[in-house]
Amino acid sequence: MIHQIAPSVFNNQYKPRTPKPNDYIFIYGQNQALLDCANEKEPRVPTYSDFAEYNPTLTYLFEIDETAFYLLPMAKWPLSGCPDTDKYKPQPIFSFYMIQPGYMAFAGLTAAHIAGWYEKRTICGRCGAKLVHNETERKMDCPECHNEEFPQINPVVIVGVTNGDKLMLTKYANRPITHFALIAGFAEIGESFEECVAREVFEEVGIRVKNIRFYKSQPWAMSGSLLAGFYCDLDGDDKVILQEDELSEGVWVPRGEIPEQDTKIALTAEMIERFRIGKENEPL
Ligand SMILES: [Zn+2]
Repeated sequence: MIHQIAPSVFNNQYKPRTPKPNDYIFIYGQNQALLDCANEKEPRVPTYSDFAEYNPTLTYLFEIDETAFYLLPMAKWPLSGCPDTDKYKPQPIFSFYMIQPGYMAFAGLTAAHIAGWYEKRTICGRCGAKLVHNETERKMDCPECHNEEFPQINPVVIVGVTNGDKLMLTKYANRPITHFALIAGFAEIGESFEECVAREVFEEVGIRVKNIRFYKSQPWAMSGSLLAGFYCDLDGDDKVILQEDELSEGVWVPRGEIPEQDTKIALTAEMIERFRIGKENEPL
């Protein structure tokens, strides 16, 4: 999965330090990031050495190994006096999946999650005053009403529903994604992950489940989420009643008919693959 970057180590503690020449600068705004596209085939994330002489105001994001990543909001671009700005082109965040090495793909997506939060947390949601960054941790403080805004993570369940030797696979309605997925949904306020699993399965395909068991989790920046993967078993009638505004298909697929999955990026694909090879109940 994309967040598994060993032997590199991700450290997201908020510990700002003076940038070094090889630290990375993530220029972000409205779900896009500016990459140096001088070489169109290999866009690169700019480094501090590219901009050091223009004295940019940066926000510390995190470290991977000894290299730090900083945020430069798109609103502060272009930097005063900086030449060659034409080579920096906006790229959609999902293009980070293609960047190599793999830890840079994870870094770009994670930076986008944090940067998107900063972008939407400039004004106090309670009193409207301008928020200021706390000096010791990643949070925004209101100097007027003392409201605190912490980074936002939306919890999501990913559910592999098994029916003997078959797995429930779905396709989303009204989305460009055409491959099969698993049942998934955001947790509501006041419910546990397990209750969320049972509710989402019933809402999307109209069946009841039992033996709900946790598999693995994965940070998923594209929806600002932390995914929690569960397997569970059909309980009772296997007749599918599709929630048609969410899904275009929900079908029981025999193990032997499931196509092999690429497990390098997503928890969903790994869970389908573990079932396909008959190892959904074995610890990794
Ligand atoms: Zn306030």
